[in-house]
Amino acid sequence: MSASSSERPIPRLAGVCGWPIHHSLSPILHSYWLKEMGLLGAYVPFAVSPKTAIEAFRSLKQTSISGVNVTLPLKGAAFKAADVATEEAQRLGVANCLYKSRGQLVAHNTDLEGFAAPLIAKRGVSRLQNGSALVVGAGGASRAVLGALLSMGVPEICLINRTDTKAEDLVSQVHVPSLYALPWAQRQEAVLRADLIVNASAAGMSGKPDLDLSLEGGREGALVYDLIYTPRVTSLMKAAMKNGMETLGGLEMLIAQARPSFKLFFGQAPLTELNPSEILFEALRTGHR
Ligand code: NAP
Repeated sequence: MSASSSERPIPRLAGVCGWPIHHSLSPILHSYWLKEMGLLGAYVPFAVSPKTAIEAFRSLKQTSISGVNVTLPLKGAAFKAADVATEEAQRLGVANCLYKSRGQLVAHNTDLEGFAAPLIAKRGVSRLQNGSALVVGAGGASRAVLGALLSMGVPEICLINRTDTKAEDLVSQVHVPSLYALPWAQRQEAVLRADLIVNASAAGMSGKPDLDLSLEGGREGALVYDLIYTPRVTSLMKAAMKNGMETLGGLEMLIAQARPSFKLFFGQAPLTELNPSEILFEALRTGHR
């Protein structure tokens, strides 16, 4: 081998693991940043069966793969497979990102940052610290939302969920005075006193029923943050606009949670001026993912 070929940099490889994985937008997102920043590397989808996920994740240490993002239903397995976990991953008990550091496999979770970054950019921390929040949904996404809101110091957070017991269970697990649950039947009362309304439920996704929540009588200027990104503008966001409220869509979170992963895998943060929203919307619109 000649000296020049041995000095050639090795392209970094990363990807996203899920089961199924064909729907993931992450390869489009990361490939866009790689291309625009002129970095040598690739980001690809990996189908990983839940049955062999822990073994597959542990084997990352024997490969030259820099790291992987992890999506449903493998986030719990990713957390278990790692040698160590960051504070963020420990807080949520699940990982959406695995990377290698000093020979160890590290479990990390970028959902807290992914949810918080667009929210802080839109509202500013001090406004959030002087208002109350309503969170709808008590699944995996809701845990990240609650974690982020609590870290920001939001003084009052009301949680509601279609199945009341799940909201009650989550509140008792988190166990802080600023977080309480209300029964689903009282959801309209909760809307009236919220400065921030977060839809962390699956309701409103394309092909699923809309969220059964009226925004009528809600606070003018309140912010409605819908984590759903298909469709681009959900029925809940449309209702918010009609009621003089502000909106944030789920694509902002999707992009914001990908940024720290990109830095971990490829060594550089994506440039802030590189906004992949339009190519993602186009991919969603055409179904070419
Ligand atoms: P999950 O763990 O499966 O939880 C789903 C939640 O949605 C549960 O609380 C469920 O209530 C509720 N739900 C489902 N159908 C409903 C309906 N018709 N009416 C009211 N509530 C309903 O899912 P997840 O991982 O938390 O994800 C939730 C949503 O967030 C998904 O749409 C996902 O796409 C989105 N998300 C977006 C991002 C992003 O980057 N933008 C990141 C993560 C998640 P029950 O307990 O009553 O079943």
